[in-house]
Amino acid sequence: MDPEEKKYSVSEKFHAPNADVIIRSSDNMHFHIHRKYLEANTGAFPPSEFETGKDEVVALTESSVTLELLFSFIYPQRYPELEDVPFEIIEPLAEAAEKYEVFSAMYICHLRMKDFIPTNPTEVLSYACRHDYPLVISAAAEVAIALPLAESVRLMPPYLVMPWILYVDAWMKVYRNVQEASTHLDYGHTLFFIDQNANDCCGEWAHTVLSPISKRLVVGYSALGNLDALFSVKPTRDCCCNALTDCKEMIEREVKTIPKFKHFISNYK
Ligand SMILES: [Zn+2]
Repeated sequence: MDPEEKKYSVSEKFHAPNADVIIRSSDNMHFHIHRKYLEANTGAFPPSEFETGKDEVVALTESSVTLELLFSFIYPQRYPELEDVPFEIIEPLAEAAEKYEVFSAMYICHLRMKDFIPTNPTEVLSYACRHDYPLVISAAAEVAIALPLAESVRLMPPYLVMPWILYVDAWMKVYRNVQEASTHLDYGHTLFFIDQNANDCCGEWAHTVLSPISKRLVVGYSALGNLDALFSVKPTRDCCCNALTDCKEMIEREVKTIPKFKHFISNYK
């Protein structure tokens, strides 16, 4: 046996004897596919290497898991359910759908990618920027604002850099408002978080609430991108709990005044 020849398996789902294209996944599974469906339902399939002889096996870089889902979108059949499919499978499927322009899969995958914004904001933002899905970008922006500016701006395509800077500027204004307001607020604990050395009436406020929140706010506006993390402190006294709730609600109200990122995109066009 040719040592170069790797063992392969054949897809249980795609093995029709009259198929005229054989595609091999990165993990050596063969898919027997009908060229007519590839041509009818995709924009970039078959790529140029498919023009080789009929018996040639075309090796792709995607895994068998990705390709089996992807090919399910090119045949005249019900599309696979992707509701409970995890991010680790959806992301490469979404990328493959874009690469080969499998339009039906592109549509479903971009909606599924949006669902993963809370858990994978950077990856979703990067995907949405690269493939130009403004609504996903806008939805991911609210989470991505918690990233350092150097990191978030790097994810943006050139045409979104200016809207992103204006969006960040709106967050910085709110950040300054919050700082300004906090210096004048008195919750029975004297100043909120600006002056840790102020004479507070309640020792717990300074140590349990003021100190950790002030440290988290040092990073700047991006701290407002994740208010749950910012306010993740656990005072025990009622006075501190109530003051903490008031502070958080005040900042939430301020943050809600910031327009959506899509507003900045459309304004800058
Ligand atoms: Zn207190």
